[in-house]
Amino acid sequence: MDSVILKEIKVSGNHVDYHFEATGILKPYFSTNTLFIEYQEDMSMVPESILAAPFVANIIPLMWATNTILWVKELDHTFYESLIRVYYAYQRMYPHFPLKGDIFPGKFIDNQLDVKRESLLLYSGGLDSNCTYVRIRDTKPLLFNIQGWYKSLTDLDEAADADIRDVNNFAKREGTDSSSAKSNFAVVVKRTEWEKKIRPQFGDSWWHGFNHSMAFITIAMPLAYKHGIKNIYIASSVPMGEYATCASHITTDSEFRFAGVGGCIHDGAELVRQEKVQTVVTYQKTTGKPYPMCVCSFKGHNCCECEKCFRTVLGLTAEVVDIRDFGFYIDKPLKEHWDDVMSRRAGLLTFKSDSKVHWPYIIPRLKTNYDKMNQEQKDFVDWFLNFDFDKARREGLVKYYMKNFFKILKKKLHL
Ligand SMILES: [Zn+2]
Repeated sequence: MDSVILKEIKVSGNHVDYHFEATGILKPYFSTNTLFIEYQEDMSMVPESILAAPFVANIIPLMWATNTILWVKELDHTFYESLIRVYYAYQRMYPHFPLKGDIFPGKFIDNQLDVKRESLLLYSGGLDSNCTYVRIRDTKPLLFNIQGWYKSLTDLDEAADADIRDVNNFAKREGTDSSSAKSNFAVVVKRTEWEKKIRPQFGDSWWHGFNHSMAFITIAMPLAYKHGIKNIYIASSVPMGEYATCASHITTDSEFRFAGVGGCIHDGAELVRQEKVQTVVTYQKTTGKPYPMCVCSFKGHNCCECEKCFRTVLGLTAEVVDIRDFGFYIDKPLKEHWDDVMSRRAGLLTFKSDSKVHWPYIIPRLKTNYDKMNQEQKDFVDWFLNFDFDKARREGLVKYYMKNFFKILKKKLHL
């Protein structure tokens, strides 16, 4: 049967290399035969059976999807048992796509976590992870940021470096500590191969359907083990009431376990996005200090031109706070700025589907708090409540197609 064999885990200080070999039908799926994770600290004392977890979780969904086998020499027994439950949770989430395949460890190791600390938080700086931070900050979580898009460590990724710097600064300000890891996990499985062979039946991408959450949680495991941390927290990104299948789901994430009592908590799935905004705003008000977040889909900083930035600015305004205290640096009055963005970009923004989910929770708050707002906020709210987004989108699309007509035509004709 075709398989992937994890040949060797090589640790040198803070750098971990996983050398593996793929056979048969699996070969074309891999862009490399080495997965690497570079932590910020020495990992040489972490047992191999725990270090194997991130490799296994990064690769195993490909075995499930292709009915193949993953072989590893040693695996943490608790992690293995939890992986079976993770597998069933995924199968329930994707009933249209049979998940088969298996993993065969050569040896089970019963590691026991020596608990010294409560929490590690997978922290990206966005609204979800900030909400979870505020909810668990009494436990002084170790904030952990993972960057997975390195092809090699010599790659320069300024956005990733900026993210890591921001997390470190945030942790310092909050009086807790932080750590980070750089890895090639997101590029090990070839996107093109998955899109061609599996996506047509499966219906989702490798990254979104399986990879991101399984990688993030398990890359944190060796670090959590080393520090005796009981729970890995991952912030929910699917708001209550929104049906979505996604690798990061309450039913899948919550099943992960390691080293006896180590676990994973998928936090905040009972909240809608506006309740997360309220949680962060309430905390910011008690400190009286700015609380910069980075919610943007375009990394590095808030672009203040995309749907996510708009939605968050609107949500913050509904709670009557100055958005500039939260990392949105808009010079012009809000109404003027967004009116200008809509006239340039409405056709490209995805307001239609997202707005239905998020705006109903924001609009009542805008109305309730209207009287407490300053003139700039009131002008912005008046403009928003009267703006015809569907019309702007239609007109924007027409404008976009007129402008790019020949480019699109060329693309369609493969010229
Ligand atoms: Zn943005």
